[in-house]
Amino acid sequence: MKTCDVLVSGGGIAGLTAAYAFAQSGFSVVCVDPTPLAATREDHGADLRTTAFLQPSQAFLNDIGLWSLVAEHSSALEVMRIIDAGGPEVPPVARLQKDFVAKDVSDLPFGWNVPNYILRKTFAQAVDAHPNITFLLGVTAEKLFTRLTEARVTLSNGDKYRCKLVVAADGRNSTMRTQSGISVTTNQFGQKALAFAVSHAIPHENVSTEIHRKGGPFTLVPLPDHKDQPSSAIVWMETNMQADRLLAMSPSDFETEMTARSCGIFGKLSLLTNRSAWPMMTQIAERLNGQRLALIAEAAHVVPPIGAQGLNMSLGDIRALVELAQKAPHDIGAETMLETYNKSRIGDIRTRVKGISLLNQASMAEHQTLRDLRAMGLETLYALPPVRKTLMKMGLGSR
Ligand SMILES: Cc1cc2nc3c(=O)[nH]c(=O)nc-3n(C[C@H](O)[C@H](O)[C@H](O)COP(=O)(O)OP(=O)(O)OC[C@H]3O[C@@H](n4cnc5c(N)ncnc54)[C@H](O)[C@@H]3O)c2cc1C
Repeated sequence: MKTCDVLVSGGGIAGLTAAYAFAQSGFSVVCVDPTPLAATREDHGADLRTTAFLQPSQAFLNDIGLWSLVAEHSSALEVMRIIDAGGPEVPPVARLQKDFVAKDVSDLPFGWNVPNYILRKTFAQAVDAHPNITFLLGVTAEKLFTRLTEARVTLSNGDKYRCKLVVAADGRNSTMRTQSGISVTTNQFGQKALAFAVSHAIPHENVSTEIHRKGGPFTLVPLPDHKDQPSSAIVWMETNMQADRLLAMSPSDFETEMTARSCGIFGKLSLLTNRSAWPMMTQIAERLNGQRLALIAEAAHVVPPIGAQGLNMSLGDIRALVELAQKAPHDIGAETMLETYNKSRIGDIRTRVKGISLLNQASMAEHQTLRDLRAMGLETLYALPPVRKTLMKMGLGSR
């Protein structure tokens, strides 16, 4: 049997970050994942989503030495623009626009947006090169056996590892979570998010724009220019029926429909990638700890992509866990450490999951009266500067 301090099950962006952070603190780490890396966004299976890292997440990545590896691929988010296009007009018309400006609450931008395929590829290279990490790609963590003093994990390649802590970063259907008997509460929205990249003639000026009508928000998030053309990542949330209809459209019909849905704010939108689709749900684990096991990221919580909270919450999990391990390295994975981890994170996670769920439901509203009420709500909140600033600060903090 082989040994290590920490075994990270899952080498998505969260798992790779966790592996790197523990290794940087001097722990010996094994990280396993079955999914191959995509070298370009055209590769089969490439993650076409992007991640807007909010200030605390960018600071954490910077502290552990990963930010400098992806900084050149990032776009700053200086302004969050919310547009209400919920009026009866067809095609939609922007009837209300409110700008939340980072400068009002901070010297820094709200966040920085980076394509996920670049994050996974770059972080995987860094993990692979780290002297404290064994990175096993193409390998699954299959069985978990724990006792008070250690965990034993059996991998799909037949290897068995004995470790002090297992970090479950193996996604929303986490095998490690299931094996430890931790239950989850799931709520499906009957909705999908389409994620893809576009180019457009009008520059985004580092403004992230969320347009509300019905079925869910249509969000354009700044990307660096593509072949000298302004470019954005789009997340378009719709009911399952509408999303399936959009996915079945020819690229040119789809471009016409998405340009109309964007209210033409950047001129004609041209597809740069395939369209990927993600089912929308909230899911939360009853607790973040089991014997010798810590749940992080989507193994612990799943939220719709509203307010860029998902992976940002995950980095909050990793930072909390690594800080506890640094404080008492000999007790890594012990019951008291993992109880403290759970207590420090679960309240904030529950609040954010609930808040995002409510925002999503408001954004899905079909009925005209509800859409008008939503616009009035935005107007009222925005008109009160202290409330506006508090909301911006709450959105920023992922701790
Ligand atoms: C459209 C969209 C846009 C988003 N935008 C943002 C944003 O702007 N900001 C933000 O903070 N969040 C955002 N999110 C959320 C964010 O993308 C997710 O939180 C994040 O990608 C999940 O990462 P993860 O590492 O937890 O899970 P995953 O990416 O699912 O990784 C899990 C990994 O575990 C591996 N695995 C599975 N089973 C096993 C096993 N048994 N053993 C070993 N490995 C295993 C899988 O191969 C996979 O690589 C968005 C989400 C969506 C849907």
